[in-house]
Amino acid sequence: MTYDGPENADQARLLRLLRDDGPRSRVELGDAAGLTRARLVAELDRLIALRLVETAGPAASRGGRRSSLLRIAGGVRFAGITIGPREIDVAITDGELSVLARHREPVDVRLGPEPTIARTLELLGKIRANLGLGRLTGVGVGLPAPVAFREGAPISPPALPGWHGYGVRDAVAAELGCPVLVDNDANAMALGEQHAGTGRAFDDFLYVKLGTAIGCGLVLGGTLHRGATSGAGGIAHLRLDEEGPTCACGETGCLEAYSSDEALVREALAAVDAGRSAALAVGLAETGALTVADVGRAAVVGDAAAQALVREAARRLGRVLVGLVNFVNPGIVIIGGAPVGLGPTMLAEIRSVVYRRSPPLATGSLPIVLSDLGDTAGVVGAARLVSDGVYAAP
Ligand SMILES: [Zn+2]
Repeated sequence: MTYDGPENADQARLLRLLRDDGPRSRVELGDAAGLTRARLVAELDRLIALRLVETAGPAASRGGRRSSLLRIAGGVRFAGITIGPREIDVAITDGELSVLARHREPVDVRLGPEPTIARTLELLGKIRANLGLGRLTGVGVGLPAPVAFREGAPISPPALPGWHGYGVRDAVAAELGCPVLVDNDANAMALGEQHAGTGRAFDDFLYVKLGTAIGCGLVLGGTLHRGATSGAGGIAHLRLDEEGPTCACGETGCLEAYSSDEALVREALAAVDAGRSAALAVGLAETGALTVADVGRAAVVGDAAAQALVREAARRLGRVLVGLVNFVNPGIVIIGGAPVGLGPTMLAEIRSVVYRRSPPLATGSLPIVLSDLGDTAGVVGAARLVSDGVYAAP
């Protein structure tokens, strides 16, 4: 396979600087990369010859000779993809990971990996055709599942029944003929936050992803931490109570069985059954079913039962976070994927639990915030994932 990547570690560092900080003058690049003038010129010449970097017009003059800006070449194009549990989300980015085009559509991942991936590639093909794109530089994929990173395959994923061990990376790479990397979606979103969100300002942070499949990405010392078998951050099935509700994984009392979207809907139905919520009962009567969006609407209009069940779900997550925050000592905790309308309520409850139950050293100045990237964190992070792979020393 041809490989559009750097030839050595200095070139890799220059590419990452241009990806993360945008166009730079030669002087700025040399300072940031810590390279001598001669080495810098030689490596940039190679990167330009490899069509990875190009000149981008004149830099602001510092007096004397005007120098030109350098940037990632216009031909560099990444795809960032997230699949499931309910939606395929496909984006094409430039070399600085700005989204150029994006398409989302509903998906039923229970049909299995082959039709889902075939449809994903079809969408990607349409976007590429619209943009007139040839070959992609790399493709990153986020899945709502534990992913064996080296193999690029989901492992026993409750949210993706029938996908266990399926080689997603190899299937996509065989079709596209470019580097492909696959990771857990919370990891991808953490990388998105690191690139373009609040996480940009922090070397150590936790990104907690709510939704159907709960997950946590850990960035430690500026690097995503996957652990020995790429299982780090798997908080979904930490058991909070042996007598608790049944979880999608088959066990009982997992965090996900208390705090996922499905758990909120289950509790909402119980509230209707018990006659505790007029707003939720109306929602159920209208459509014959309740969704997490109904729970959000009921909570926003002040329905006490809806608010109570949302706070309880957040409290459970807060208790898990107390342990994580004390163990990892992050600079910030970023929470994404909260159902529409519920973010502020959940955040308030999570903060209250974490601040009340943690010693001041770990949480004295710890911000806990909602993601400001929203739903672009996944695709930007998936693009970042594969760009980290492409912009690595061989
Ligand atoms: Zn579980």
